[in-house]
Amino acid sequence: MLPRINLQDFSRIVVLTGAGISVASGLSTYRGPGGLWTRDGALSYATAEAVQSDPEGVWRFFSDRRQGIGRAQPNPAHLALASAERLLKPGRSLTLITQNVDGLHRLAGSTNVIELHGSLWRTRCSANACDFRRDEDLTRIDPACPTCPQCGAWLRPDVVLFQEPLPGAAEYVAKRSLRDCDLFLAIGTSGTVSPASRFVRSALFAGARTLYLNIEPLHEDDRLFHQQFIGPAETLLPALLGTIRVRPDGSELGPGRNASSRATRHHLTKGMIH
Ligand SMILES: [Zn+2]
Repeated sequence: MLPRINLQDFSRIVVLTGAGISVASGLSTYRGPGGLWTRDGALSYATAEAVQSDPEGVWRFFSDRRQGIGRAQPNPAHLALASAERLLKPGRSLTLITQNVDGLHRLAGSTNVIELHGSLWRTRCSANACDFRRDEDLTRIDPACPTCPQCGAWLRPDVVLFQEPLPGAAEYVAKRSLRDCDLFLAIGTSGTVSPASRFVRSALFAGARTLYLNIEPLHEDDRLFHQQFIGPAETLLPALLGTIRVRPDGSELGPGRNASSRATRHHLTKGMIH
């Protein structure tokens, strides 16, 4: 039986999610076996340089990704976080920082979402001096690269590509939320690389309890997370948060307290339990 995290014990919760949370929605991770960046040509289109040299190729590449992701639905892990946000008492906050560009947190119903790497569903102008932006481009899956109605430059997906900095506003809000958080939970992302490794340090400095949930365990030397839960997010998270119970087919049963998981393990990192 997994312990249950009572979110009502905390007032400023920050959750960081990575590609691992969307695997059960049918989306691959970026770097793992079969991951997007291991496929031929993918890396060459996901760069700032390619937007300049081959804007139509970049648009075609991401148009294909939009088609694939457009069919994906939120899984029980996304739904558990959305439920957790809805169930918070007044005056408490849950800030969801995601590295994912798939939009599944918003589709699940989460509202306080910081998209650190942008969103595949937004389009913006490729000219730095132009502020044209279009939200919800779900219905515009078109392999032909459009041009900006304001300045005529090529349009591009509003995602952070290699060689590009994180969006200033998203990074600022993420850092601000970490500054006074009392619970930090990293889900489906490596705990040893940025941003999780950076964010957990900030959260620890703020005095937060730090939890890690992923299919891959932390290195045994890792002392930045107080507690780790090893297993698939879509199974572990609803059980841990107790926000929903999930049938074996993934459908929701409603609020429950006794959800448990069989195929999962949880570890307490020595000497770091509050
Ligand atoms: Zn423009």
